[in-house]
Amino acid sequence: MARVYNFSAGPSMLPESILNRAAAEMLDYEGSGQSVMEMSHRSKVYEGIIFAARDLFRKILNVPEDYEILFFQGGASLQFAGIPMNLLNGSGKADYALTGQFATKAYNEAKKYGEIKVVASSKDKNFTYIPKIAQAQVTPNADYLYICMNNTIYGTIWRDLPQTGNVPLVADISSCFLSEPMDVSQFGLIYGGAQKNIGPAGLTVVIVRKDLMGKALPYTPTVMDYKVMADNDSMYNTPPCYAIYMCKLMLEWIEGIGGLEAIKARNLKKSSILYDFLDSSQMFGNPVVKEDRSMMNVTFVAPTEELNEKFIKEATAAGFVNLKGHRSVGGMRASIYNAMPIEGVEKLVDFMATFERRN
Ligand SMILES: *Cc1c(COP(=O)(O)O)cnc(C)c1O
Repeated sequence: MARVYNFSAGPSMLPESILNRAAAEMLDYEGSGQSVMEMSHRSKVYEGIIFAARDLFRKILNVPEDYEILFFQGGASLQFAGIPMNLLNGSGKADYALTGQFATKAYNEAKKYGEIKVVASSKDKNFTYIPKIAQAQVTPNADYLYICMNNTIYGTIWRDLPQTGNVPLVADISSCFLSEPMDVSQFGLIYGGAQKNIGPAGLTVVIVRKDLMGKALPYTPTVMDYKVMADNDSMYNTPPCYAIYMCKLMLEWIEGIGGLEAIKARNLKKSSILYDFLDSSQMFGNPVVKEDRSMMNVTFVAPTEELNEKFIKEATAAGFVNLKGHRSVGGMRASIYNAMPIEGVEKLVDFMATFERRN
């Protein structure tokens, strides 16, 4: 069996130990005589899985008691609508920072539901940096201010969070979920799809301050109403049962490694190996402003389109797959989420150095 190093932006790699565990439990989960895929979400055995996943989130991310942890289907993109429907209930105004394609999609969706202002943008330089937002720029009575924390396509991350005063800060953390410790109390709401850092596609996790729930706009679909989902333990309807089970295994894996401090050390090591190489390379370069560089998505380019294509082709043949950059950016991108082993990045850099020497 030959497994590749998968640098996909998502869905992405999962640890082999988890895949083996899932395989071993496939036909008979803990003596239940069934697979997790087959069992009722109302059964005691399934409740053991979903509640354990929720409790592990709280423990690992240190989620304060005044926040709910909710599980949804529909991807991060459904929350582009879910967030305004649930939160635009005061002034009906919100501020958005445009730092890439996903932030822009969220902004375009929110415009359907209220008065939305672009408070900052980095579009002028193709989203290669994180803009500054002074507190004076924030709409004083806005229902929330929205950022996309880690910009998957461009390889940038917010390091200094905007100071928003009483305006709740909302962040899409899809591509940096549980990649390092995070102070949840600085946010009104954080959310993300699981398929980058914490499991397979199909599960979206929303962590929301309790006082922000319960005032959804009247037309909000019931399954997207945060209060309804909270009152029903995320099981108002059938949850993405198997994805939650896989996510639970991933949370146990993170805990086993030593939690978020240990994960951060690993992730920092991986990204440093790549950025250090790019900074010393005569061929490859990274276009992002240094202090805004993402630890999760590392973009890079060779001097010509021919070299980019040749690199991607040869890398794929050598077992380093999905290194092609997003079509809106070009070049290459290595997504090195939680499950990517350090060895995968070391081998990639060796391969890049050899490619550089030969070309
Ligand atoms: C992948 C991604 C999304 C889209 O997620 P879906 O689950 O496909 O809707 C949104 N935001 C960010 C930051 C992402 O990386």
